[in-house]
Amino acid sequence: MTATGLPLRPELAGAVPYGAPQLDVAVRLDTNENPYPPPPCVIDDMTAAVAASAATLNRYPDREATALRGDLAAYLGHGLEVTQVWAANGSNEVMVQLMQAFGGPGRTAAWFAPTYSMYPQFARSTATRWVSGDRDADFGIDVDTALALLDAERPDVVLLTSPNNPTGTALPLSTVEAVARHTDGIVVVDEAYAEFRRPGVPSALELLPRYPRLVVTRTMSKAFALAGARLGYLAAEADVVAALRLVRLPYHLSSLTQAVARVALSHSAALLGQLDTLRDERDSLVAALRASGFAVADSDANFVMFGRFPDASAVWQGLLDRGVLVRETELPGWLRVTIGTPQQMVIFRDALQEVVAR
Ligand SMILES: *Cc1c(COP(=O)(O)O)cnc(C)c1O
Repeated sequence: MTATGLPLRPELAGAVPYGAPQLDVAVRLDTNENPYPPPPCVIDDMTAAVAASAATLNRYPDREATALRGDLAAYLGHGLEVTQVWAANGSNEVMVQLMQAFGGPGRTAAWFAPTYSMYPQFARSTATRWVSGDRDADFGIDVDTALALLDAERPDVVLLTSPNNPTGTALPLSTVEAVARHTDGIVVVDEAYAEFRRPGVPSALELLPRYPRLVVTRTMSKAFALAGARLGYLAAEADVVAALRLVRLPYHLSSLTQAVARVALSHSAALLGQLDTLRDERDSLVAALRASGFAVADSDANFVMFGRFPDASAVWQGLLDRGVLVRETELPGWLRVTIGTPQQMVIFRDALQEVVAR
């Protein structure tokens, strides 16, 4: 029983809803969004597609989102077929569906911290037991540590995040393969930031033909500048997709979402057009912060984790006082900043210098 007498599940007692503060601040660099809104030509096509879709809103959407999944398969390439691609409301929902299908009571999920802070909530919501291994000093995953955890815990689902949030660290494919070879469980590589990786850093998509229990999740929230539309997806063996169809809610993906995401994919060159700018900004931020004496984790994502501060909360507040919102991390002494426009990054750097000078 809660204080109000509600018969809440005991594991939810005292829990707080997930989410960084959504503050109305001039420079918002806290949730890894793309700072560039969709260009006008894309907005026009989205508006037309929404109007067309509105004309049939009395009908349920395509339950299988077949056309959209075909477009996603074409975008990913690697010879993927529509039957190997699945989509839902953000990769968060994809992840919950994976836990519903392959986790659940009596089962275990494993990941390596520090990592995406939503994973414990996905596990809790699906009554999946979870264990967290430690990343190494450079925020990578040591293979021996990982295999020892697999031996000790025999997880049914392993989540590998690459590039990782909040650290920005990408995993070598050899690490993914070592884990995939060592478990009978489902191995999920969360590639929410894949499009931002540096040249030569591979995607786990190329491993899919060789590992039938490997899953690669992606999202349109970050590189595609479509966070508001809520569209996440995965690529895997067709059997994995078939399993997810058992747990998804009927008509989970609205016609409007499907229509807008398809327009976005048809304009992928325009929507991804700022990737080079964002990557250049990231690389120069990493270099500048290091030159100023900060510790900075290598990043293959659209954010940078930097520190180390005796009191990271005070620095966070100091930046906020100057109109710049960044993110506190679970790692004491470190903050995470999303790459914004060049102008926003100048404001961020100036504000940071002021805060640390005091
Ligand atoms: C942002 C993020 C996601 C994406 O979430 P959506 O539900 O697709 O918006 C997934 N995984 C990680 C690690 C992320 O940082």
